Amino acid sequence: MPKSIIVTGAAGFLGSHLCDYLLGEGATVIGVDNLCTGNRRNLDHLKNEPRFNFVEQDICTPFDLGAVDYVFNFASPASPVDYSRLGVETLQVGSAGTLNTLEIARKYGAGYLHASTSECYGDPEVHPQVETYWGNVNPVGPRSVYDEAKRFSEAAVMAYHKYHKVNTHLVRIFNTYGPRLQSNDGRVISNFMMQALRGEPLTVYGKGSQTRSFCFVSDLIEGIVRLSRSNEALPVNIGNPVEWTILECAHEVLSVTGSKAKIDFRELPTDDPTRRRPDISKAKRLLDWEPKVSLREGLEKSLSFFQDYVASEKSQAAN
Ligand code: NAD
Ligand code: UDP
Repeated sequence: MPKSIIVTGAAGFLGSHLCDYLLGEGATVIGVDNLCTGNRRNLDHLKNEPRFNFVEQDICTPFDLGAVDYVFNFASPASPVDYSRLGVETLQVGSAGTLNTLEIARKYGAGYLHASTSECYGDPEVHPQVETYWGNVNPVGPRSVYDEAKRFSEAAVMAYHKYHKVNTHLVRIFNTYGPRLQSNDGRVISNFMMQALRGEPLTVYGKGSQTRSFCFVSDLIEGIVRLSRSNEALPVNIGNPVEWTILECAHEVLSVTGSKAKIDFRELPTDDPTRRRPDISKAKRLLDWEPKVSLREGLEKSLSFFQDYVASEKSQAAN
């Protein structure tokens, strides 16, 4: 169990949950973030935690916070809305940011885990997606700033493993949700939950027949921590293999929230992947991991977070 850990992207959705998990195990954690999509609010509960320090830092600029045992690299805009708005920044964080954090791991002999993504598979022609599939990414399409940055990151991580003998790990994360998702980052679960609770129509893109497989955040973090302690350097899928159409997902959100909101069909974004489901045989075999939380349970666990958000919007509007 490493003692001193850097988590980049700590003020974001996944990074903040990872910090909580590591602190809960007794580690000392330095959270690094430039707050471009994250929020200090996600770390408010750690204000009085002596084993946690926050450093506001853009990881695209080289930095050195002293000797550490492990680096978890989670910094990057992550939703299609965010990475479309921050296209060049996304390419920079996936290239310079990844190299800078790998340098820290090399310098201090630390372990390293990079948050990669199912987007490396693009609009996949192999279903479900297995780690040995190389993907189908449009290198000049609207999603390319994210997909290609993440693919570059994977190459950089493998190079540091090969040439500098850094103990590296690559997790390919499939759509994950839970409390602390940004309410306005355009991702499907946050959009649907906010819309349902506001009583606004749920915006389903296309016919809603495209599929995704949704993993609850606690399952994901457990898988990631297990991977960080394994000997596997090649990519490992972590996600929930239960596949939902987006229209089915909209109905599940309506049912969990008890909302009577309507469904509003909108144009399907360019290059939106048609199907996505992880093959998690490798994670099961190597890490003895599989998700435990169903979409319904996960949405129920997330409900109060989104209800609080909508309530605070209402009280702000009233003032
Ligand atoms: P998020 O936007 O909530 O968190 C990302 C954090 O990184 C933010 O706090 C942001 O401010 C920070 N950041 C971005 N650029 C930075 C930079 N240059 N320097 C320092 N900090 C920077 O997103 P998330 O969902 O928590 O995603 C975390 C990581 O997991 C990302 O790398 C993302 O690509 C990956 N991932 C997430 C999902 C998912 O479903 N949530 C799926 C696949 C991969
Ligand atoms: N989506 C939708 N309505 C929304 C937001 C997203 O129908 O309000 C769809 C989107 O077109 C995609 C899926 O939901 O097919 C997942 O989108 P998200 O942005 O959450 O993640 P990603 O496309 O990166 O998997």
